[in-house]
Amino acid sequence: MFSPFSINFESPTQWHGDLPVTSRYTAGIALERFFIALRDEGKILGIRCSRCSKTYVPPTLFCPQCLTELQEFVDVGLHGEIYTYTISYRNLDGSLSNAPQVIAFIKIADGGIIHKIEGIPPHQVFIGMKVAAVLKPTAERSGSILDICAFKPFG
Ligand SMILES: [Zn+2]
Repeated sequence: MFSPFSINFESPTQWHGDLPVTSRYTAGIALERFFIALRDEGKILGIRCSRCSKTYVPPTLFCPQCLTELQEFVDVGLHGEIYTYTISYRNLDGSLSNAPQVIAFIKIADGGIIHKIEGIPPHQVFIGMKVAAVLKPTAERSGSILDICAFKPFG
């Protein structure tokens, strides 16, 4: 059985076998609605604060500026703009990747999403580039951010 008291922090080690799961992360009310809309309707939802005239993506239940409780979900479309990006030459496990991959923060309304950029050589990506989400086919969506395959340039 796993015990946090048996870890020696002075000596790095590795774990063989299963890791115990003691809790689950929940998306919360606003993000759950975001993921359901993405899965079932192929929409990216934001939430509007009429007091601040801002639309947050992804949606949150309270305005981060004025703390008003928010309820006005809005379809913000599938388009955005690259706010910043990086080029990764490694896979998630740290191994070298076969091809460089562009990861970007895509500004959508007054927020945005971090996701992959595809359909363009990495050296041609630039800040301010207009991009659009490419979604998985409806039957393959699971209510995850990976229901968006990637963002690709448009226009
Ligand atoms: Zn507000």
